[in-house]
Amino acid sequence: MNGVLNEHSLDTLCAALCYAIGIEPPAHAAAPSPELMAYVDAAFGGKKADRLLMFNPDAVAEWLFEKYPPFFGGLGGEGDLKLPLRTAMPSVTPVCFGTMYTGAQPAVHGITKYEKRLIEIDSFFDACVRAGKKVALVSHPRCSMGVIFLEREIDYFLYPSWEKINAKAAELIVKDEYDVIVVYNGNYDGVMHKTGTESCEALAELRANVHAFKWLDEMVAECWQGHNTLLGFAMDHGCHDIDGDAGSHGLDMVEDLNILHVYRARPKETE
Ligand SMILES: [Zn+2]
Repeated sequence: MNGVLNEHSLDTLCAALCYAIGIEPPAHAAAPSPELMAYVDAAFGGKKADRLLMFNPDAVAEWLFEKYPPFFGGLGGEGDLKLPLRTAMPSVTPVCFGTMYTGAQPAVHGITKYEKRLIEIDSFFDACVRAGKKVALVSHPRCSMGVIFLEREIDYFLYPSWEKINAKAAELIVKDEYDVIVVYNGNYDGVMHKTGTESCEALAELRANVHAFKWLDEMVAECWQGHNTLLGFAMDHGCHDIDGDAGSHGLDMVEDLNILHVYRARPKETE
């Protein structure tokens, strides 16, 4: 790691996702990421994505990508967009996902510390609903992503097991009834806090996150051939080790703030 903070803030993502699916961004979103917009335009020949699958692993730092490339199983390879971003401060889960899906900094979206409470400002989910998009949010009921964006006119599938969460996401892909599916996986984060960021146990969960994404991507390739689909492997923040073989995040440091999202376009197959 070179120790330099990534230039573009995570707040540039939300409006770019809206651009990708052809809807107006939420009220407080920062200007969209030009890299993601250009990628979408090139991949879909100027058309929009009519399906979006966002896979949100928790705490998968950019430095993990750099240190363990084989564990990422080709993610970010040819055809994918690697999008380096700088997450919000403090670099904790509800703060960062708040910024990811509102496009606003914490002082604006209202979660400025580790606090799982409802975000009341306009969000990506509200923007989708206004545009008539059908949205499914698949998460753990006690994790931030199962809490902070409740009370929208979207469908929530909340399960206390990563296996059930990913199985439901796969089922929803097969049914093909949602325009936007957001899937949260917190298993790497949960284990790295207890055993350290590079313990065998934590790296196994990292691999599980990558496998889950690749599995869902294969389902998309199989079941959504009639759609322009954008997939995202999009974490909230990074992580670092602290004393006592434990991992942490939340600080103003490169390890916690630098994240690397990967986007993959699957254009509609021509008849
Ligand atoms: Zn997190």
